[in-house]
Amino acid sequence: MRLQKYLASCGIASRRKSEELIEKGIIKVNGKVITEMGYTVDPDNDRITINDKPVELTEKKVYILLNKPTGYITTASDQFNRKKVIDLVDLPYRIFPVGRLDYNTSGLLLLTNDGELTFKLTHPKFKVTKTYIAKVEGIMTDKEMQMIRNGIPIEDYVTLPAKIELLKKDRKHSIVEIIIREGRNRQVRKMCDAVGHPVMALKRIAMGNISLGEVPIGKWRYLTENEIKYLK
Ligand code: URA
Repeated sequence: MRLQKYLASCGIASRRKSEELIEKGIIKVNGKVITEMGYTVDPDNDRITINDKPVELTEKKVYILLNKPTGYITTASDQFNRKKVIDLVDLPYRIFPVGRLDYNTSGLLLLTNDGELTFKLTHPKFKVTKTYIAKVEGIMTDKEMQMIRNGIPIEDYVTLPAKIELLKKDRKHSIVEIIIREGRNRQVRKMCDAVGHPVMALKRIAMGNISLGEVPIGKWRYLTENEIKYLK
């Protein structure tokens, strides 16, 4: 890892400020002053100091909301070499998605390096609501929506009661807003399948009271202090 990136990822300063610190000659690697920009360090084995004090690898916590495009995976890699959401966020931190969105799902995805928060938000016990807009095949009837509201058997479980409203329909499709409290694998798609209306497009627009808002597709923003407090 480049030295200025390492300093930034330790929360010492921004990348640019870190470069200034290197230029000043106050950064040492294994006891030797380094002023060369782009000097490569091995964080696990090199001893890096600033004014002779060790730089601690206590990463600053970052919390990000990304508007995920379709056609990106949320996992670190896959066998097909598909594009990864993490490549949309150019930050000197090792951040990870909080839970998953399918390759073909777009919308709100949180990313953080706060492992504790990720654990909490992805734990089945912690039931933050997730709001989706789904375009489905056919016209969803009141009766079918009521089945989803009540909880519907899927594979080996029954979904928790959910909220669903019809937003729009034409002769061939319906657009519904669905709010669930769980986050099982492909759950919204399976719920819609179960009432005979396969999902054609799916977008997550909110988690709890955190909304996607106007973040352009493929772009991200930091969560506000209030949003972070709310999630914790
Ligand atoms: N439900 C799904 O079916 N897919 C997602 O990506 C998220 C929720």
